[in-house]
Amino acid sequence: MKRDSLVNRVMRRVVRLPFSGCWIFTGATSDFGHGVLGAGARGTGLAKAHRVMFEHTFGEIPEGKIVRHSGDVPCCVNPDHLEVGTQQDNVDDMMARGRHKVVIKPRLTYHKLTRKEAEHAQLLLMLGYTRREVSAQVGLTVKSVARIDTGQTWQ
Ligand SMILES: [Zn+2]
Repeated sequence: MKRDSLVNRVMRRVVRLPFSGCWIFTGATSDFGHGVLGAGARGTGLAKAHRVMFEHTFGEIPEGKIVRHSGDVPCCVNPDHLEVGTQQDNVDDMMARGRHKVVIKPRLTYHKLTRKEAEHAQLLLMLGYTRREVSAQVGLTVKSVARIDTGQTWQ
């Protein structure tokens, strides 16, 4: 089945983070930080990794609904961190979290790093993500990520 092989292809690119429980997709990501991979045969377009994992675990996504991340990590594909909702839920959430600023461009204002963010950034850096990619995914400025990268503390 194509669906099975897609799931396997997603899982081969997953690194599980012990502290957050996130399953980080280490393959390609979209502009919004979502994991993406080829859907199948050449020309069939891209599949979104988190949707593949959601459907594999919970079944088909109801029409008109989208798969949302309950956490703040767009490239996470842990089904436990995913839920169905509407585009409006997403917008409400992003407004509440201020994530809309982060996804489009890194936060520019001063932001005190949390340990979780720093650990997350460190792991992504270890995986070979660029500072810019890490900043977009974790929601930190490139400068903050650079500080983490060079081993300075986050306090
Ligand atoms: Zn997660």
